[in-house]
Amino acid sequence: MIPSTAQVMPRPGKMVSVRDLKFTYEGGVEALRGVNLDIHEGEMLAIVGGNGSGKTTFAKILNGLLRPPSGSVVVDGKNASSMTVAELAKTVGYAFQNPDHQLFSSTVEDEVRFGPRNLGYPEAEVARMAGQAMDAMRLGAIRGLPPLSLRLSDRRRISIASVIAMDPKVLILDEPTTGLDAAETKNLMESVSMLNREGRTIVLITHDMRLVAEYAHRVVVMSNGRVLLDSDVSGAFSDLALLRQSSLEPPPVTLLAHGLSDHGIPKDIISPQELALRLLMLRGERQ
Ligand code: ADP
Repeated sequence: MIPSTAQVMPRPGKMVSVRDLKFTYEGGVEALRGVNLDIHEGEMLAIVGGNGSGKTTFAKILNGLLRPPSGSVVVDGKNASSMTVAELAKTVGYAFQNPDHQLFSSTVEDEVRFGPRNLGYPEAEVARMAGQAMDAMRLGAIRGLPPLSLRLSDRRRISIASVIAMDPKVLILDEPTTGLDAAETKNLMESVSMLNREGRTIVLITHDMRLVAEYAHRVVVMSNGRVLLDSDVSGAFSDLALLRQSSLEPPPVTLLAHGLSDHGIPKDIISPQELALRLLMLRGERQ
């Protein structure tokens, strides 16, 4: 595969290391059945999988919203079981799938200031941290407006800004583009990519394989509370049967590449530019 800039692997240190992680909800649903996974510093990792595969449960454990009954979770070199919920939440930020579960203040600015204020930072520092987060998510023009009166794409940006205002090393985004149109998705993902390029580790939980193809460095497929595949992006796209088993649909360009594989086109193509280049190379070889 010809790597895009998004797919150049970042630094190798481990930011999160999870071994044999199991979680059962009250009532008996076994949401995680032995997850093993490392998340590397500075990467953009996509976690994909069908509904109910355990993605959100996993994210909530990393962020401290749920405490794991068994297995080992090491975050930024510390055992999560010895960290307080506040310490975990400060290291791993989690933006909910539904932003309205996070938003309650009367203005965007108050909303984004809430996190650092709650962590006890002095007011000047609160203003600085919130200002940076609002700039990163391009919220300056709407800082005085009530969050719940705004459209979904703005509410998503606000919920992400209110998490990054606490300056977490790892940012988990749970289905951040669901319900957004193509332009809103691109705008949001540009801001997220910038956060990643500045060094923040990003975990992107999504169903959208086009988003994975365009932005992720690595992809983990979850199924039935376990990791089914942990691979570079092209590896994940070469196994159509596995993707479909996990209710995931590859981008049209990948399906086209699979259809052309008998003619010498590789199956792991994930961008139209790459397919065009391969077709040109093939034409050159045959002339
Ligand atoms: P995903 O994010 O991949 O859709 P979840 O982590 O939300 O998966 O869910 C994993 C499993 O845990 C599913 O069977 C789901 O129904 C169950 N589950 C999720 N949240 C709860 C809860 N609060 N109480 C009981 N079961 C839950």
